[in-house]
Amino acid sequence: MIEATKIKELKGIGEKTEKLFQKIGVDTVGDLIRYYPRGYDVYEEAAPISDIEEGRIMTVTGAIYGKVQVSGTPRLQITTLHVKDLTGTLKVIWFRMPFLRNTLAGGGVITLRGRIASRKGGIVMEHPEIFYPSVKYEGKLNTLQPIYARTTGLTNNAVIKAVKQALDNLDLSAEMLPSELRLKYGLAEYNFALRGIHFPEDKEVFYHARNRLVFEEFLEFILAIRKLKDGSDRLRNEYMMEVHPEVKEFIEKLPFTLTGAQQKVWREIARDMSSDTVMSRLVQGDVGSGKTIVAVLALMNAALNGFQAAMMAPTEVLARQHYESITKYFEDYGIPVKTVLLTGSMTTKEKRRAYDRIECGLAKVIIGTHALIQNAVNYDNLALVITDEQHRFGVRQRETFAEKGGAPHVLVMSATPIPRTLAIILYGDLDISVIDELPADRLPIKNCVVDTGYRKTAYHFMKKQIAEGRQCYVICPMVEESESLEAENVTDYATALKEELGEGIVVDHLHGKMKQKEKDAIMDRFSQKESHVLVSTTVIEVGIDVPNATVMLIENSERFGLAQLHQLRGRVGRGKHQSYCIFMSGSKAKETKERLDILNKTNDGFKIASEDLRLRGPGDLFGIRQSGLMNFKIADVYQDAKILKMANEAADWLLKTNHEWLKKLPKYEEPSSVII
Ligand code: ADP
Ligand code: MG
Repeated sequence: MIEATKIKELKGIGEKTEKLFQKIGVDTVGDLIRYYPRGYDVYEEAAPISDIEEGRIMTVTGAIYGKVQVSGTPRLQITTLHVKDLTGTLKVIWFRMPFLRNTLAGGGVITLRGRIASRKGGIVMEHPEIFYPSVKYEGKLNTLQPIYARTTGLTNNAVIKAVKQALDNLDLSAEMLPSELRLKYGLAEYNFALRGIHFPEDKEVFYHARNRLVFEEFLEFILAIRKLKDGSDRLRNEYMMEVHPEVKEFIEKLPFTLTGAQQKVWREIARDMSSDTVMSRLVQGDVGSGKTIVAVLALMNAALNGFQAAMMAPTEVLARQHYESITKYFEDYGIPVKTVLLTGSMTTKEKRRAYDRIECGLAKVIIGTHALIQNAVNYDNLALVITDEQHRFGVRQRETFAEKGGAPHVLVMSATPIPRTLAIILYGDLDISVIDELPADRLPIKNCVVDTGYRKTAYHFMKKQIAEGRQCYVICPMVEESESLEAENVTDYATALKEELGEGIVVDHLHGKMKQKEKDAIMDRFSQKESHVLVSTTVIEVGIDVPNATVMLIENSERFGLAQLHQLRGRVGRGKHQSYCIFMSGSKAKETKERLDILNKTNDGFKIASEDLRLRGPGDLFGIRQSGLMNFKIADVYQDAKILKMANEAADWLLKTNHEWLKKLPKYEEPSSVII
């Protein structure tokens, strides 16, 4: 068996299962072994019953106490048991497993592992895994069981079995890294790393395996970037332009004064565009720092100088929002520049019309999604390309975009702040500008971390804000297993909320499964203030700007990464009104509260992400979506900053010594980007 072997050659994988695997992007055995778990179940030491915490998966060991009982309806039989240890008694229930009454009739000591939930009758452990007699748990203790991202119909066990077979039958002895590097950085061998990432015996093995894979991924990425840089050593500026007088006038007439930071960055951009070499610049600025207006100035300036300028956004909702606000700016201020929108969901006819306007040069400012870099688009004289929320795109997409013109100026914007040292490695070929100041009229957002008991109060508060003319967002948690469940979740929530808030309050909802036209209509209603509450999945996370919205309520916030919560929070506090962010947590666990409290203490995106990592263990390492910064398969820029620096040093060495190994380097393949 070799890596290119199709997975249907594996035992137990028929046509149907093969299709399911293909759905998650696994076609060959090689794909399969690189389909890393997204989390692990850690079989921890049993906890005393007095220490159990709602919302957590825990293990307890105790004596079976009293009789095992079966109640409920014939369709949903509930088996109840009590276990007792020195510190207390715990009620345990199972659904649809009446036979347990016989299995457990013998009494004695049992170990149970399951989620602790709060039910009408009090705290219970629900549907736990059973280790009976208790000694059976010893074999599992401290092991990590992989959890894979799945698709409907494909069980975790099926993935485990397939991966095991693949690992057993493949020859993994070939080492990809030069041994000098492996020794210098103490990296695990390829063989060990692959087994260790899928089936780690313990946390130590897991970390050792993971570090190696992260290193390799970073190294390949850095080498790919260096190659790009080689070819594009600052080209001559073919699109020389001074700042047009109308741009200066526009800045004067804006309803707000640009912050010092915005002015500084705009000067840097203007200087680049009139210099001898072409611009290649990254603008970093935290959420709400006002990056868009700086981009608008650059677009406008290119257009007024007679060139075309294009801006690409990662989602259709955001692209359209940019298109509308920019078009409105131009209309309101009498700027004679034609704009056009181009997105994937437009009809063929609409697209054709956009292509024509772009090709003949009528449209000077072009805004859209990935559709902007498709083959069908031919620009007339593209002099500037801007990518908004760059961290959602891959480097290759940025390159393709730049290749669309002759050698246009390139500006990329990102809301994910990273320290300069890391930015230089990741964006090696770009100059860096930072908008490190928020507009002066902003009031700091008021935050609170609460449990679900506070929900009614939160709704009441939202009603009051709505009565004052404001609007609210509610974020429902993502459902990892399936997009349709997630959609259902949002829809149900919105219906219940409508009921709760009563007459006169318009509640809309938004999720990834909706048609683009529907999403657009709903975003429109919200920004036109025709709806008061928007219940949504994280689709609204990126870039959306509705300054009148003042409340952000995030359900199950314990399931999100802090960096992501910070982005979500950034959707409010964008105008002059006091804004509020309510982090609702379904878990009463102390660590959860401690983690969420970080958001109370700081507004610094990088600090937030670093603290987040410090507080979490490998059990939930992948369980929560991390920074979403660039599209790495296993590496995370925040978490693995140290390894990133090592890989950078290694890349220097390989290039300097012109190492043999560079010739063997496989073509770097960027994971496909996250598109919502
Ligand atoms: P982000 O940096 O997150 O992309 P935006 O560019 O969307 O932020 O700006 C957030 C909001 O702040 C917008 O409504 C914008 O009009 C407003 N804004 C931008 N610059 C200023 C400023 N200097 N003073 C006041 N408001 C501003
Ligand atoms: Mg933005």
